[in-house]
Amino acid sequence: MRTEMKDCDVVVVGAGLTGLRAALEITNAGLSVMVLDRNDQVGGRMRTSTVGGFQLDHGFQVILSAYPELRRIPGLALTHWRPFFSGARVKAGDRFVDFMDPRRHPEFLFAMLRSPICSIGDLIRFFFLLARSPRATPNREDQATVDLIQGWRFTDPFREKFLLPFLRGVLLDPTLRADAGMARFYLKMFGAGDALLPPFGIQELPQRLATLVGQSHIRLGVQVKQISARHVVLENGETLHCDQVICATDTLSAAALGSPEQTMPHSGGSTLYFGAQNPPYSEPILVLNGEGGPISIVAVPSNVQPKYAPVGRSLISVLVLGEYARTSDESLVAAVRKQLCEWYGDYSLEWEFLQRFDVPNALPSRPRMGVGWTERAGILYAGDYLSYPSQNGALAAGRQVGEAVIAAFA
Ligand SMILES: Cc1cc2nc3c(=O)[nH]c(=O)nc-3n(C[C@H](O)[C@H](O)[C@H](O)COP(=O)(O)OP(=O)(O)OC[C@H]3O[C@@H](n4cnc5c(N)ncnc54)[C@H](O)[C@@H]3O)c2cc1C
Repeated sequence: MRTEMKDCDVVVVGAGLTGLRAALEITNAGLSVMVLDRNDQVGGRMRTSTVGGFQLDHGFQVILSAYPELRRIPGLALTHWRPFFSGARVKAGDRFVDFMDPRRHPEFLFAMLRSPICSIGDLIRFFFLLARSPRATPNREDQATVDLIQGWRFTDPFREKFLLPFLRGVLLDPTLRADAGMARFYLKMFGAGDALLPPFGIQELPQRLATLVGQSHIRLGVQVKQISARHVVLENGETLHCDQVICATDTLSAAALGSPEQTMPHSGGSTLYFGAQNPPYSEPILVLNGEGGPISIVAVPSNVQPKYAPVGRSLISVLVLGEYARTSDESLVAAVRKQLCEWYGDYSLEWEFLQRFDVPNALPSRPRMGVGWTERAGILYAGDYLSYPSQNGALAAGRQVGEAVIAAFA
């Protein structure tokens, strides 16, 4: 399989989780690898910017400690990564109600038994359902999430105030047309571990992978124009020669580079960040919107990881989905501020609006839910659109395509 005059054994296009994980697998097997990305930083859809001392993730996201692929990354330690509470606070009518996992937070058990949004039957059914679900990876169910949930025998308040808003926020999908297998997978993973934030922003995960791969094996700021089985042509005209090319880009970029997979619709949303002198609440907890209005989820990342905000300040993130995410900055910020004011009072009007991140193409909506990679004309294509849309799906795709390359070189 080897050729003369090559630049390296394997070129990986894309320095997101898929590409970096593939590169790590390959380099650990003793093969030489070069990862290319058009961005000036690694991470792809997991990026963080520092703005005025605040760490702003490009779209609110969390890392679930139960993801099996995290444990399969050689040399990755999650030291100092901190969790949100297991559960959520729900805005329902004129008050906030906590729905907490009593297995992790027994101090909430009494309140849970008297909760206005869940009956004892809901509690038992919900945790029985989580325990029974064996899924470490999702299977396609060919059923919409919304239909799966309607089939479960929960009370209306639990379904409408907690379960549906939670899944809409996680799947970034207000219609919940996403395959039910993804909903089951995310519920299982949230129930089996913690939702974590690294100290320095969500980009820390790909950055740590990049360190393990070795910075000298990563070239940033290079747009790949064309690929074939053994060549990669860059926008600047340079050509790299190798024995194997892996295209580990998002689905839209992969289609432009010859992927056999049709492009597909995506779900996504907008995240608005605000800076405040004091947080609206002090616990590390996600707040779900159990009623109407633009807000989907409120979080205070600095309650989990203080370094998300400068000393003496708090960072508040607001996730917005659907039609609201398509409105202009001015009207969206005004609508969100109005609802925040109803929730947290006039004090919220003092919060400084920091930045808005729109990510309409966050999650591929019709992933193949397969092995995570495919081959066309000698090129290997890998990504979350071939496995399933999550960090775990991207890491699995990268590991699996890496293993396939190593097997081919053996
Ligand atoms: C707002 C948001 C919230 C999310 N929330 C969660 C969550 O809470 N939990 C979870 O598990 N997952 C979440 N995800 C999904 C998760 O982030 C992705 O599934 C994962 O990061 C995808 O990684 P990837 O490497 O497959 O693709 P990408 O991260 O898209 O990486 C592809 C890379 O290819 C590069 N590239 C593309 N074309 C070219 C080219 N021609 N030349 C050079 N480089 C190129 C891009 O610059 C990019 O860096 C979220 C995603 C977003 C956006």
